Amino acid sequence: MSGGYGYGDSEPVEECGCCGGLARAEFCDVGVGYAQVSEYRCTQCGASPTTVRDGAGRYVVSWEQPSSPSSLGEVVTGYLIL
Ligand SMILES: [Zn+2]
Repeated sequence: MSGGYGYGDSEPVEECGCCGGLARAEFCDVGVGYAQVSEYRCTQCGASPTTVRDGAGRYVVSWEQPSSPSSLGEVVTGYLIL
């Protein structure tokens, strides 16, 4: 995925397909404007858009949430303790 915006333009944002919240990506100043350097991620539920093919073979955007924060936290905590 690529994208970006020029100097003086406002940062592009997306609407989350899961909760309707604000999804933002990271942008990096590349000298002629800003280039997108990360996927969009919802600031409310953490979902990111992925492109999948529907039953008719068309590409559609599907918003998917990451694995639950609680299970991820357990893994991280385990590593910290060890
Ligand atoms: Zn969301």
